[in-house]
Amino acid sequence: MTTRFDAIIIGTGQAGPFLAHRLAGAGLKVAIVERKLFGGTCVNTGCIPTKAMVASAYVGHMARRAADFGVTVTDGVSVDMRRVKERKDAISETSRVGVEKGLKQTENCTVYEGHARFESARLVSVGPERITADRIFINVGGRARVPPMPGLEHVQYLTNSSMMEIDCLLPRLIVVGGSYVGLEFGQMFRRFGSEVAIIEMGPRLIQREDEDVSGAIQEILAGEGIQLHLNAKCIGFSRRGAEIVAQVDCTGGPNEISGTHLLLAVGRRPNTDDLGLDKAGVELDKHGYIVVDDQLRTSVPGIWAMGDCNGRSAFTHTSFNDSEIVAANLLDNDPRRISDRIQAYALYTDPPLGRAGLTEAEVRKTGRRALVGKRPMTKVSRAVEKGEPQGFMKVVVDADTREILGAAILGVGGDEAIHSILDVMYAKAPYTVIQRAVHIHPTVSELIPTMMGELQPLAS
Ligand SMILES: Cc1cc2nc3c(=O)[nH]c(=O)nc-3n(C[C@H](O)[C@H](O)[C@H](O)COP(=O)(O)OP(=O)(O)OC[C@H]3O[C@@H](n4cnc5c(N)ncnc54)[C@H](O)[C@@H]3O)c2cc1C
Repeated sequence: MTTRFDAIIIGTGQAGPFLAHRLAGAGLKVAIVERKLFGGTCVNTGCIPTKAMVASAYVGHMARRAADFGVTVTDGVSVDMRRVKERKDAISETSRVGVEKGLKQTENCTVYEGHARFESARLVSVGPERITADRIFINVGGRARVPPMPGLEHVQYLTNSSMMEIDCLLPRLIVVGGSYVGLEFGQMFRRFGSEVAIIEMGPRLIQREDEDVSGAIQEILAGEGIQLHLNAKCIGFSRRGAEIVAQVDCTGGPNEISGTHLLLAVGRRPNTDDLGLDKAGVELDKHGYIVVDDQLRTSVPGIWAMGDCNGRSAFTHTSFNDSEIVAANLLDNDPRRISDRIQAYALYTDPPLGRAGLTEAEVRKTGRRALVGKRPMTKVSRAVEKGEPQGFMKVVVDADTREILGAAILGVGGDEAIHSILDVMYAKAPYTVIQRAVHIHPTVSELIPTMMGELQPLAS
């Protein structure tokens, strides 16, 4: 028997639940399907648990630095990984249960638990159940990519998902991948007490960022005793007794790195491989991402794709924004679109990196006339008072329109302070608006107007 709905949503990540509430609230009969954990990646294996763990790692780090602040911690600092995990689990669970209950208690919304597959462009199976609707919304997210690497089959490895089960100290952790996920895990485990080696194939960490950002983060991590192996062109693995050995062909440094545990943090892949998309005729790109237009419509009328699986971005806030766009288009007669969005995100190392808009390198490539301003965090009184003066802030402005093109704040509170710049960008206001704003003292944000007052031409 087939049950008919007005809308089917596949996946309860960051887009599906909001859209379910909006559609059901508008009186549509909605089905939403989840195959595993309500809330998806962010809630269970991504942002929320990792940031909870980053918070534990920060406390450990600051406790070790207590004497710098005139505080005595007697008997040294030790980390109880079981408690770290329990705390993290409790925080995730609150969110997961909130998502699940919210959906199950919503009028007009039926929750199916199981793996959804398209049987045709209008028909979806969930185990023995068949459900059909004229509008289907895909929010299936992604998972850790595990590329073929020589010898990987001979060793055990962790991903961001299995890391969530760790409740003991990992004595010597090898992290493969020097981007956002790898750096967050690498620094947090170093602070828990592990020896950490990060192996990156490229010439620098987080290569999407400007070189000065990568360089400063590299210095911060190396300063905490993390071994960094860059330019690791060929990586292979083997076992030596209980140890995992990574053979790397780096420029400089040892070409064999051994550890007790291995974390692969080398990117993500979309969960589109077992969804029956061929039966629905939905077009994928060569990496398996669902091709969508500026309003999240796939190649098949009546099917939309939101969040990580469409390859347009890979953040919680962008997935959620996808669902806001779809809801606005369908219910509010509001033509919101992806291209309204300004790229913004944070890297949650400590100090964090807050980013908005283009990098300096991207601006240079556009060939336009630009101005750049940069101030070290040592000039931020709040950072100095907190004893956390690492990093810098930087902004790039269009010399002709005076609009802000991009900014980076690597420093304490950088993930929050970036928003004062981001909001001016959304307002399409000239940078002079923020330059003349009077910010509160002492805050990290108060140096932004000063930085805006000292812009220099961007060398080409
Ligand atoms: C370690 C880590 C840290 C991160 N930290 C941050 C951060 O700090 N900030 C940030 O913005 N982003 C962060 N991200 C990214 C963020 O988690 C994702 O961008 C976000 O979760 C959006 O995902 P989504 O809505 O596309 O889908 P997901 O959250 O991945 O949810 C997809 C859901 O669909 C379900 N599903 C999949 N296939 C099917 C099927 N066939 N049938 C039924 N259900 C199905 C899955 O079980 C899952 O619940 C992080 C990611 C990782 C891995």
